[in-house]
Amino acid sequence: RGGTAEPVIPFAQPGSLTRVYAIASGKGGVGKSSVTANLAVAMAQDGLAVGVVDADVYGFSIPRMLGITQQPTKVDDMILPPIAHGVKVISIGMFVPAGRPVVWRGPMLHRALQQFLADVFWGDLDVLLLDLPPGTGDIAISVAQLLPASELVVVTTPQQAAAEVAERAGSIALQTRQHVVGVVENMSWLEQPDGSRLEVFGSGGGQTVADNLATATGTAVPLLGQIPLDLALREAGDAGTPVTLTAPDSPAATVLRDVARTL
Ligand code: ADP
Repeated sequence: RGGTAEPVIPFAQPGSLTRVYAIASGKGGVGKSSVTANLAVAMAQDGLAVGVVDADVYGFSIPRMLGITQQPTKVDDMILPPIAHGVKVISIGMFVPAGRPVVWRGPMLHRALQQFLADVFWGDLDVLLLDLPPGTGDIAISVAQLLPASELVVVTTPQQAAAEVAERAGSIALQTRQHVVGVVENMSWLEQPDGSRLEVFGSGGGQTVADNLATATGTAVPLLGQIPLDLALREAGDAGTPVTLTAPDSPAATVLRDVARTL
């Protein structure tokens, strides 16, 4: 027999019951990975079987945010993903030597993603979250090709400049015919001791992205939530125990849990 068979991706099979969300952003540092990690944990706390693929090749941070230090193990031809806080996780960071930059080109990234989806023993998942690299690069296209039914969640800050690039990342859905589920605005404001809100990064970015993507795609694109700046969120992420676990009643965790329940 000539040629190599395409690996079978369970989430791409007809009748798959796993909902797949790709978390996208225009640029780095807007909190895409923090949102992904917290949504995953919030969903797992609600009793869902959740997997995360950290496909942010150049800035993989999911293992750290979820406190994962174990490596995946191999059984026969399958890769067993480490589990943290009830979430199964595979990251590109688990397959590259520590401290070395990832310098893979598009085709290699595509194959890596294919392996993460086909060769990892995910079991029956209710939800699979993919943490995409920022922007509109090769991985976003690969995700759309390998998982045509995946839906996009776009993360942005309120800043107009950030919103413009986020919109570009979201409008990739037009080409790939993916559904945009909604927009999450992060770092929306800092609550002052007197209860007033300091809008550190301006305001309106999330709503603008949602409105413009709705117009571009001809579908409803809601603003799913606005997450305030929160010291606890940053500290919890650094410590590997997301804020949805450490401070579940904080304003940030409350918004994240609401978004998780909307998806
Ligand atoms: P991205 O994945 O978009 O590059 P990250 O999730 O890695 O962004 O977030 C960048 C940094 O900002 C991290 O140190 C994270 O802890 C911090 N951060 C993200 N969202 C918030 C927030 N709402 N409040 C405080 N810090 C945040």
